[in-house]
Amino acid sequence: MTGTVWADTPRISVRHRARLAHETCDVAVIGAGISGALAALKLAAGGHDVVVVDRREPCRGSTLASTAMIQFELDTTLSELADKIGAAAAERTYLRSFRALDTLESLIQSLDLSCGWKRRKALYLAGDQHGFRALKSEAAYRAKIGLPSEYLDSGALADAFGIDRTGAILSDGAAEVNPVQLAAGCLREARRRGARIYAPHDVKRVDPHRNGVHLQTAEGTVIAARRAVFATGYEVIDGLPRDRFEIISTWALATKPLPADALWPERCLIWEASDPYLYMRTTHDNRILAGGEDSRLNDADRRDAAIPNKAARLLAKISALLPGRRLEVDYAWAGAFADNPTGMPLLAPVPDLRNCFAVLGCGGNGITFSAIAAEIVAAWIDGRTDPDADLFR
Ligand SMILES: Cc1cc2nc3c(=O)[nH]c(=O)nc-3n(C[C@H](O)[C@H](O)[C@H](O)COP(=O)(O)OP(=O)(O)OC[C@H]3O[C@@H](n4cnc5c(N)ncnc54)[C@H](O)[C@@H]3O)c2cc1C
Repeated sequence: MTGTVWADTPRISVRHRARLAHETCDVAVIGAGISGALAALKLAAGGHDVVVVDRREPCRGSTLASTAMIQFELDTTLSELADKIGAAAAERTYLRSFRALDTLESLIQSLDLSCGWKRRKALYLAGDQHGFRALKSEAAYRAKIGLPSEYLDSGALADAFGIDRTGAILSDGAAEVNPVQLAAGCLREARRRGARIYAPHDVKRVDPHRNGVHLQTAEGTVIAARRAVFATGYEVIDGLPRDRFEIISTWALATKPLPADALWPERCLIWEASDPYLYMRTTHDNRILAGGEDSRLNDADRRDAAIPNKAARLLAKISALLPGRRLEVDYAWAGAFADNPTGMPLLAPVPDLRNCFAVLGCGGNGITFSAIAAEIVAAWIDGRTDPDADLFR
């Protein structure tokens, strides 16, 4: 991954400690991306003694690559998810995702966090995976369970957005954010509440025991914790489940700023029911931020080598969808995430590693899942059961 648009934004650093001697804590959070940051803050705010450790500087994993379209919609439609995991579970998953955005918004407001959070609508265009008929029935299903989605036919879509597709779903309740400012802000607040943040320290070994867990770093230092939360993104430590997920490579770009009137109405998030898909949003300084072209490539060097080619393809797709704009690429980068056929993450205690909890597989709309994960983790630490924990095991 090279040159993401967020790397040049302010307030993305978090003070951390480089020197790690033997540490003892209540909860160790491994991974200082958005998942680790939200979990660490929730736990520190709940009175727990928290240590965060990352092999890189905080917020430099896939969170730095994210286009950060925050949505309740999973990559798997509600109808598809119902076929895969049953209607009741699918509906609860979508409704929980919907509520997660309110939770995230309340957190950001309560911290008065300046992280570019802005509510947007989301426009889901018919494509080669789901045509207009499928989207029409998907919108009706969502509306039936109380989600704010409405179907637009091709005429309404052209009138409202000037986009030529056979149909779309327009949903309320989405948002955009600067993901690094959000994660960094949460980590700073966690630190203010007593969390110690260590980086760069690579956790290499996990030794659970009856009363806790020992985490050994590459330098041989041990962190002794009562519980450990693994929020390591797509990089999985030995002993944690990896077989349920596939690593997906994805590419993104940010254009040079455009005149505000060259952007589209309401600056909604736009994505499409195609494979590979295109997704895009705008930024506060009037750039188009787009991503997609996902592939099963799992090699960091080849992923990076493909950036120019993938950026050119993304730009051509944007131009086809929104003709008449003069678009120039200012930033282009690649990233990876872990995905599986349902599009759902694993947010659960690890069966073979006592006292360890995994926050893994937060894929395409991972930041919404990170927010849900923080709540499920906090319940687990406090000995409660989150009412939706069963959905993410
Ligand atoms: C290009 C791109 C676009 C995306 N767009 C969106 C989007 O529009 N909306 C959305 O919701 N999601 C999106 N995602 C997904 C989202 O970005 C991720 O789900 C989210 O950032 C994952 O956060 P995380 O904290 O779980 O992982 P990460 O940010 O990857 O953090 C994991 C951290 O763990 C650390 N770590 C790993 N192993 C170890 C170890 N052994 N010891 C110590 N530390 C370790 C890493 O260094 C890293 O900092 C996108 C992802 C990419 C790549």
